[in-house]
This record gives sequence, C-alpha cells and structure tokens, in this order.
Amino acid sequence: YANAPGTLKDVWAMAAGHGDKEYLVYNDERCTYAQSQAYVASIANWLASQGVKPGDRVAIAMRNYPEWMLAYWAITSMGAVVVGMNAWWVPHEMHYGLEDSAPKVMICDVERLQRFEEIRADFPDLIVTAVRLENEAPEGVIDWVEVINSPAEMPAADIDPDDDACVFYTSGTTGRPKGAQLTHRGCVNNVMNLVFANMVQPLALAKASGSTDAPAGEAPAVSALVATPLFHVTANNCVAQTATIAGGKLVHMYKWDATEALKLIEQEQITTFSAVPMMAREVMMHPDFESTDTSSLKMLGGGGAAMQPDLVEKVGQKMANAQPGTGYGMTETCGVISSVSSAFFQDKPTSCGPPVPTLEAKCVNEAGETLPPGEIGELWVKGSNVIKGYINRPEATAESITDGWLHTGDVAFIDEEGFIFLVDRAKDMVLRGGENVYCAEVENALFSYDGVAECVAFAVPDDRLGEEVGAAIYVAPGDTVDVEALRGHCKGLLAPYKVPRYVWLLTEPLPRNANGKFLKRELRDSLAVEDAA
Ligand code: ATP
Ligand code: MG
Repeated sequence: YANAPGTLKDVWAMAAGHGDKEYLVYNDERCTYAQSQAYVASIANWLASQGVKPGDRVAIAMRNYPEWMLAYWAITSMGAVVVGMNAWWVPHEMHYGLEDSAPKVMICDVERLQRFEEIRADFPDLIVTAVRLENEAPEGVIDWVEVINSPAEMPAADIDPDDDACVFYTSGTTGRPKGAQLTHRGCVNNVMNLVFANMVQPLALAKASGSTDAPAGEAPAVSALVATPLFHVTANNCVAQTATIAGGKLVHMYKWDATEALKLIEQEQITTFSAVPMMAREVMMHPDFESTDTSSLKMLGGGGAAMQPDLVEKVGQKMANAQPGTGYGMTETCGVISSVSSAFFQDKPTSCGPPVPTLEAKCVNEAGETLPPGEIGELWVKGSNVIKGYINRPEATAESITDGWLHTGDVAFIDEEGFIFLVDRAKDMVLRGGENVYCAEVENALFSYDGVAECVAFAVPDDRLGEEVGAAIYVAPGDTVDVEALRGHCKGLLAPYKVPRYVWLLTEPLPRNANGKFLKRELRDSLAVEDAA
C-alpha cells in the first residue's frame, strides 16, 4: 500500500498486510488480522443489506469486546458513521443518545440489549443486532452469528477525508455529554500524530545523546492493553488504532481490574499500557506487583486526567524497561492534543508535552487575545484533527470553535519551548473573592499528605466570598487523617486562601465515570456543608 492513508478505510486496508499476526485477544479468544479482515467485510456487507448507506449512522453499544473494533472498521470502511454509545448509560441516557444521534442500526451486547428493552417502544424502526447471545435471539433482534455469516464482500464506498467517521460523546464531566463529529481526516491525523510522536521522540533523544544512528533492531511487537472503554477516543483512536497500524495485538479488558491487568501484562507480554493515571497507580501499588514480570512494558502512560508528579518518579523507579509518558487530549480533537514520553517527560514532569504536528496551540485571555509564553489563559488549538462540531447543537459548536480555533475549556500556559502546562479546567476553578483557586493545585497538595488515598477539590457556594474551597477525601481502611494536621500540611504548600475551608473525609472510594475520571459534580452535589470538617 504505497500511499499515506486519507481515510479510516485506507487505514484498515493497510492493516491487511499484517496477515496472520494476532490482532484481537479476549480471554482465550484470538483473532488474526486476516480473520478480522474477513469479519469486517461480512459485517459491512450485512449492514449494506439492511439499507445502510454512506453517511448513515450505526450505533455500537457494548463493553470492550473484540466485536467493537470489528464493527468500527466495518462501519467506517463502508462510509457509514459510528456512534459510540457509552456502555455505562442507564436506559434513559441510552434513550438520549439514540434520539440525539438517530442511528439506523444498533450493534449491542446482551447487557445493553436488556437496557434497550425498557425504551424499545420509542425506537420502532431501529434495526438491532446483538453479540454473544446465550439463547435464541429475542423477537425483533438479529443474532450476530447471522451478521458474520454474510458474504465477506466489502461494499464499494467513495469516502472523502472530510466526511464524518464517527460521533463520540464527550465524557459529560462539565454537563450533558455532547455528540462530537469526528471526521476521517481528524481520526487518521490523530493516529499518524501518535505514530510520529512514538517514533520521533526516541530518535530525537538518540540524536541529543550524540548518536547518529537510529535505534538499532526491529521495532518491538506491539501488545496493547485496552483498559479504558472503546467508546472514548483514548482507547479507540489512540490505543487501538496506533496498535493496528503497527500490526500489534489488542488485549481487551471487559472492565478495569488491577489484579487482572497485572496478570495480562505478564501473560500477553503487554508493551503499551496507556490509561488514566489512576490505573497506572493501582497497578504499581498492587500487592502482586513485585512478583509479576512486567519487563515487557515499554510504555506506561497516563492521559485524560492529570498525572501526579510522584507517579512519574515511581514508573522510573519500579519499571526498568518502561518509559513514563503522558498525553493530553479531548474528544473534540479526535484524541491527542499533546503527548510526551521518556526523558522529555522526566525533564518537565508537570508538562503534557508540545502540541502534535497537526495542531497549533495558543493561550488566550478573556478577550481572546494571544498571551505571551508563560502566561496563564484558556488553551485554544487549531488544526486538522479538530471536530466539525457537535450534532444537534449549533450554539455549543459556535461557542466552542472560532475560525477553526477550538476553545478547550482548559486553563494552561505554554513555555518558551512550546510545552503545554495544564493548570485546571476553566469550569473547575474556584472563584474565591477576587482570587482564582485552581483545584488541581489544591489536589496535589492534599494528595501529598499520608493517608489521603484519593481527593478532589471543588467550589462550595459562599455568601460572603462567592465561592469557597471544598475537598472530598477518601481515606482507605486502616489509615486515618486528622483534618487540622492536613490543613497545616497544605499551609506549607499553598497560600492560605487556597487551603480547603470545607473537608469531607469519606470511607468509600470517590465515584468515577467510565473513563476513570472523578465525577466531581455529582460528588459535590451529594455532600452537605453541615457534614464538613
Ligand atoms: P465534557 O466535555 O462532556 O464535560 P470531558 O471534557 O471530561 O467531558 P473528554 O473529551 O473525555 O470529556 O475529556 C477531555 C478533558 O479531559 C480535557 O478537556 C481535560 O480537561 C481533561 N484532560 C485530558 N487529558 C488530561 C491531562 N493529561 N491532564 C489533565 N487533564 C486532562
Ligand atoms: Mg470537554
């Protein structure tokens, strides 16, 4: 395949070259690239037989099963549009997603099918097929076996790089999830950016150390752990698609479990484990960690949420072969905005790296004026992997994108060398009297205190100051935290006005969403001021 890929169809066609290599792994199930190519063609053929045409939407509502990526490549290769339904959605949220995106077909697993039954009456025309049915297909549901038994003939499709490839919903951290329209060009550029970053940074390092040769030997076989859900860009556009380009295998986890992850790292010789920082931490702190062979790991990284500096150090200390790394990205950029690994990261452990090749970045003040290096403002990015907009939300689209510049909603600064340093989400800042307090800074101070297992900081309404700083802390069984001593610790690290006025000590881990991010809004709304210390 001589040309660079322009669409996801091209990416998948390129992957045919990986032939008999293992591609999809789930428990004892294994499927090669060649077998996957045939399945994908059958799925696309079946979709066409159901009347699905280029531009039509097809929803995928399932956990991380191998069928996810097969369906994804089938839908995008025939020019139809994937709708990534959040598998955690309860029936009324599923209702919102289906109504909002209006797919023609839904491909789901048994658990999602059960949820759909409750709302089915409102979607009489939706064609539904379910994978892994244990019994005969219920009435009106097509058994997936029928789908994959269709002739393995990929329908012809003429796809423009600027056509929609998928609708992925944002995590809903700051409001109702929005359906972002990701184009083929955006997705392809995202994965090429990652391939580029993975190659170029080690090369640049080799150069910097005086070597004139490229790192010797063949690139190692990639074995990627798919630990976060495939309906978000982290797992799908970043982990799964970069491994696919490299001819690597995808090791699926149905749900996150640190014990299971460690087992898989050893058994499947995982080379890349790129997940939210919480997962990296749970793996490294696990009692089985020392007795597990993790030497296959080349990259252990976080993304999607801030990586605490101590974690970077721990990767360096505990994993001889693994490079720590981090990525910053969002649904609205089809994946990664910036990424950094190895010595670049160790040099600047609080940075999430320089922007990827296809994005420009700048920080702006409230008037939208560009700020000089080092000054804090909202980060805006522009380039070919910014989404077209949000479906059915022209206002939100207009608010988020000006002249191609995407307003990330994240507060950051960019240093002289172009490295981005995230400060906080704009919506997470506590506006206390005349001062802005960045929650991320407060969280780092709290977290560095012994006994604090998890913490989030947030704004608590206050009559006098407008907002005050609050913090919810999870203290693990067997540990204790004295709130006054904790405040004393914070006073050594933070200006007095940033020290949390309200502290809640909780005996349960803090609630998280499907991608492992804390559900800050929900948590804050569930806490009463009277119960704070
Ligand atoms: P919504 O937009 O619906 O409120 P969301 O912003 O959480 O939800 P995503 O697109 O999944 O939805 O997440 C992108 C956001 O995650 C970024 O805007 C940023 O705030 C945060 N984020 C991503 N990577 C990092 C990182 N490395 N460090 C800190 N925050 C990060
Ligand atoms: Mg967002």
